[in-house]
Amino acid sequence: MNYQNYDSRYSDHKIITNYSWPIQIDLHLHTTKSDGNLTPSQLIKLIDRTKLKIISITDHDNISGLEEARKEVDLRENLNLINGIELSTINNKDEIHILGYFIDVNSKKLIEKIKELKIQRIESSKKIVNFLRKKNIYLSWEEIYSNTNGIIGRPHIARAMIEQNYVKSINEAFEKYLNDENIKNIKKYKMNTLDAINLIQDSGGLAVIAHPKSISNLNTQIEKLVDAGLAGIEVYAEKYEQMTQSYYLKICEKYNLIPTGGTDYHANNQQYEMMPGMNGPPYSTYEKLIEKAKNIHGNNIGQKI
Ligand SMILES: [Zn+2]
Repeated sequence: MNYQNYDSRYSDHKIITNYSWPIQIDLHLHTTKSDGNLTPSQLIKLIDRTKLKIISITDHDNISGLEEARKEVDLRENLNLINGIELSTINNKDEIHILGYFIDVNSKKLIEKIKELKIQRIESSKKIVNFLRKKNIYLSWEEIYSNTNGIIGRPHIARAMIEQNYVKSINEAFEKYLNDENIKNIKKYKMNTLDAINLIQDSGGLAVIAHPKSISNLNTQIEKLVDAGLAGIEVYAEKYEQMTQSYYLKICEKYNLIPTGGTDYHANNQQYEMMPGMNGPPYSTYEKLIEKAKNIHGNNIGQKI
């Protein structure tokens, strides 16, 4: 999730293009295991009300929701779950979110890295809560943390601000406080993008760039990312207009990348939040992803398909 573009996921004036395909795939969903508001089981029950057939749960720096989600999904005949994760990374000062699909949830390297990232998140969230005191916002870090599953982020702090009546909405919390440059600078530790792509590859997965519009100079970086093994770009993301989608589709064509997408759903209950199934790529994307995973990993795809 990109907070600079927070508005673009919620704004009402951007209406999703009418696609020529039924939306059956949503490859970007969050749960309470990172900064979403629904547990994996609740999310799957919500998805029962949609036409989705293939989903991926992509919690930030975390895969602990996949087991619970899989148990639920296995009870259903027409739903498939792709193992996923969303890693916050940095390349050339640009924050790039990398989605990983088909990853092996038992990969030792991945599990180690997730542990490390969790500790880093705890440190930066403490610093943010301390910084807010200077702005006369008094929150208890312990209390916020106790409402998480160990993966703490700015949306958790935003929700605590709403509960304590400092702000009325998540947008307001970000606009007035959490998008402050000082706070953004606190969140310093991020994986390098190329390392993240390598990590996902090592875990038997496919690496995909999330919501590319938040990257200011993708053009100058794309070749290196492709060389490192990048497999796709989210083209059907946020509320991208057709022109934006065409722009990223061309990049995909040029570098043989798979256009993917989804809603980046967090259950934030924002008025114009996209619900699961409101955005996503055509069904053939799933077959393309599997084909690419087989090309790269042969029989060693991280998630047994
Ligand atoms: Zn996300």
